[in-house]
Amino acid sequence: MDFKLSEEQEMFRAAVRGFAEKHLAKGALARAHQAEHPFDVAKLMAKQGLMGIAMPEADGGQGGTLMDAIIAIEAIAEFCPRSADVIQAGNFGPVRVLAEYGTPDQKKRYLSRILSGEAVTCVGMTEPDAGSAVTDLTTTATPDGAGYRINGVKVFQTHASVAEMMLTYVRFGPGIGGIGSVLIPRNAEGFRQGKAAKFFNGEEWVQTYLDNVYVGPEDVLLKEGGFKKQIAGFNVERIGNTARSLALGRYAYEQARQWAMQRKQFGKLLCEFQGLQWKFADMKIKLDAGQLLIYRAVANAVNGIPSGEDTAIAKAFCNQAGFDLCNEAMQIMGGMGYTEETLVEYCFRKCRGWMIAGGSIEILKNRIAEAVFERSFSQRPPKPAKS
Ligand SMILES: Cc1cc2nc3c(=O)[nH]c(=O)nc-3n(C[C@H](O)[C@H](O)[C@H](O)COP(=O)(O)OP(=O)(O)OC[C@H]3O[C@@H](n4cnc5c(N)ncnc54)[C@H](O)[C@@H]3O)c2cc1C
Repeated sequence: MDFKLSEEQEMFRAAVRGFAEKHLAKGALARAHQAEHPFDVAKLMAKQGLMGIAMPEADGGQGGTLMDAIIAIEAIAEFCPRSADVIQAGNFGPVRVLAEYGTPDQKKRYLSRILSGEAVTCVGMTEPDAGSAVTDLTTTATPDGAGYRINGVKVFQTHASVAEMMLTYVRFGPGIGGIGSVLIPRNAEGFRQGKAAKFFNGEEWVQTYLDNVYVGPEDVLLKEGGFKKQIAGFNVERIGNTARSLALGRYAYEQARQWAMQRKQFGKLLCEFQGLQWKFADMKIKLDAGQLLIYRAVANAVNGIPSGEDTAIAKAFCNQAGFDLCNEAMQIMGGMGYTEETLVEYCFRKCRGWMIAGGSIEILKNRIAEAVFERSFSQRPPKPAKS
């Protein structure tokens, strides 16, 4: 067992850090408070080879590994927390599911624009009555000629208000086996969105109405029976979310560490008070433990897809750790940490959202408990007895 990155990985990290320091560090505060997706950063990253890092070169990717993509998220977040979202959008999110299961034609039409940084996509899983219980989704795909008519409502999709296409979970038939997915461009007839509102992290969310939207056979991604594949691909999105939680926690920790080494009260530096030293010790333990859990999930990944169990453990731990790190950093920095003049409050707001998004901490713990007891625990009420 070796806990060190390889020489190539260290070189890659140094190159991404160099890029981030030169191009992203300066505007980091302003970027965090900008509502729009930073397409300028995305285009710059595309030129730098930071989009599609773990995707095959034949698909327009870089032919690297999932570990490389994780290194990129960490190195970018060190200088610009908001720009880590761009690495997510170009490597870990629905883009990865599209790259994994899409046809050559689908990749040509949608993937190339995402990998060039000109477009983003979004994933439509959550519905008003299907959140944690995502398999309760009711958006239907009804056969119509060679294609399907889609009807339903989606909520909370990251990037929904700008995404060129929504990778949409739909129901072709009853039960989990009836779930699959289709690609719906935002200019499709019947694709309509409500008024934009804001999450606590500053991002926009909108409600999307799919009113009899026609999807041709060329835009079906996974037919019925595709749910397991879809969720396996979603583990990549989850591990990106996990890495951002820890990376933003690390950013806040570093801000607090610097502060504690220069801020004096009672004639002493803050870092000289044992009450604060122990906070830093606890933070360091969380950072190291979270890092190891992420690297384990990624090192054990098969064909670039981490297992459900490793991902759940890493995500549950790092979502909590990221939030705790930001919270403690804010406390250590006092009033200054609570202002919008530092990025600590931004990291705090972002990390809070990841405790809910992409499988809440509670749902992940349910998954972990199933691994502990090697059995499933139905979360649903018992079926009524047959009379
Ligand atoms: C920042 C952000 C980004 C998001 N991005 C996307 C996106 O891109 N695409 C998308 O489709 N959705 C997205 N979502 C939605 C997200 O996936 C859901 O919010 C999440 O699955 C929880 O669903 P819910 O909000 O309906 O809460 P509910 O399912 O109603 O849950 C409410 C609370 O009850 C707990 N709970 C529910 N069931 C159980 C149980 N069986 N055991 C224990 N506790 C339970 C939950 O953990 C939660 O704390 C995003 C959400 C956020 C906050």
